[in-house]
Amino acid sequence: MRLVPTKELACGEVGLEAFVALAREVLSRGGVSTTVVVDPRTGTVVRGSELCATLAKIGVRYVPVSYGKSEEVFVPLEALGFFDDIQPSRYRVFSDTEELLYRNWPTPLVRLPRASVGGRVVWAKLEGLNPWSMSVKDRIGWSMYRRALERLGRVEGLVEATSTNTGLALAAMASIHGSRLRAYIPSTVSRAGELLLKLFGAEVVRSPIASITVELIGDAERDARASGAVHLNQFENDANFEVHLRYTAKELELQLREAGVVPKAIVGGLGTSGHISALALYFKSRFRGVRVYGVVPAKGTSIQGIRRVETGMKWVHLVELDGVIEVLPEEAADGVLRVVRSEGILIGLSSGAVYTAYRKLVESGELEEGDYVLVFPDHGFKYLEQLEKLLKL
Ligand code: PLP
Repeated sequence: MRLVPTKELACGEVGLEAFVALAREVLSRGGVSTTVVVDPRTGTVVRGSELCATLAKIGVRYVPVSYGKSEEVFVPLEALGFFDDIQPSRYRVFSDTEELLYRNWPTPLVRLPRASVGGRVVWAKLEGLNPWSMSVKDRIGWSMYRRALERLGRVEGLVEATSTNTGLALAAMASIHGSRLRAYIPSTVSRAGELLLKLFGAEVVRSPIASITVELIGDAERDARASGAVHLNQFENDANFEVHLRYTAKELELQLREAGVVPKAIVGGLGTSGHISALALYFKSRFRGVRVYGVVPAKGTSIQGIRRVETGMKWVHLVELDGVIEVLPEEAADGVLRVVRSEGILIGLSSGAVYTAYRKLVESGELEEGDYVLVFPDHGFKYLEQLEKLLKL
């Protein structure tokens, strides 16, 4: 058996379900237990190509390879360079604004001391400190765009249905790489969101539809077909789910290790379901008994960035959630207020919803003593108008 740099292997493709099953196996074993077989004459992968592709997607530096026939081995994740993906800039000097994104990771994980009562310790992961959209969506804008660039060589026009954040992230990538974005936004997006998109250089099409539905995504798709633009489609594009598995989840494990903590549960919002599904797959495979809860707007209401499961989401159906908690917009705003006035950090409305969902779980008696991670998807600066209305400021 030899450890071969992943870059030197043409691993091929793996379908989503096989990828999830193999990733689950590798993550729960904490390593790889069979080799990928390579033909010594041609250098091509002849057995284990799906395992090879899965390892490449979860970001290992090396793949265990044998030549001729398969071998039983156990190579731990550490030896495969699994954690080497996360390479923060120590003194925070960056060579360009694209690096400002991924070399800023991990986004901070901060204990909320004043929210930590009754033997429960609350940790917040601040996705609002990503540089472009100031949200979790920078990660997927970057990964979807990068993948399209690899496939097509060049991306001229982009079309995307977005509730602001993905649009801002894609607009930033478009600026960096010389493309243009047309963003389809639902009617409920704030004026600030629309202005920000325009400022970032996007052309904005405001739809009469109130939230991102199949129809709105269909409008973006038709536009892309007619205009020859690329529709990355955050709702279907597996680069979304995969970037969270490869980076968001992995960095959170490293952060929790540094804090000396194994969480009892993780709570996060459901929009495309990308980040919470990846966290569920990762943490439920790596640590026994970690629970994962999703947060959605209460029926008939809307909270920018999150949606109800029945509106259609892809990856949440591949993993197991321990509950889906409904939150009203007023309750989400109340969550924002409680966090900003107790911890001094301004978070977005969906983050307020996540905080309120955590409080509801505590009140229902479902959360024992221990550590809890709340993923706060974005910053609060975009929501001043909604907060003014909801909180009657
Ligand atoms: N919160 C905000 C503000 C968002 O923009 C999004 C994504 O649209 C989410 C939460 C949900 O994230 P995901 O799409 O990974 O489910």
